[in-house]
Amino acid sequence: MAEFDNPYAEESPFVRAHFDCSDCGGKLWEYAIQGQMVCEDCRSVFHTADVFEAQADA
Ligand SMILES: [Zn+2]
Repeated sequence: MAEFDNPYAEESPFVRAHFDCSDCGGKLWEYAIQGQMVCEDCRSVFHTADVFEAQADA
């Protein structure tokens, strides 16, 4: 049986990001595999790059 070496297997794929949801102000969690962030409150999904841009403009 072949072993699939998953680099994320031993760590949570979610990394708590230091950003707030632009919809509800909840905390965003970065979903490292897909380069997305998910709000823990309203479950809105944002692209990480968009979040960085928005915070930089603020
Ligand atoms: Zn939200």
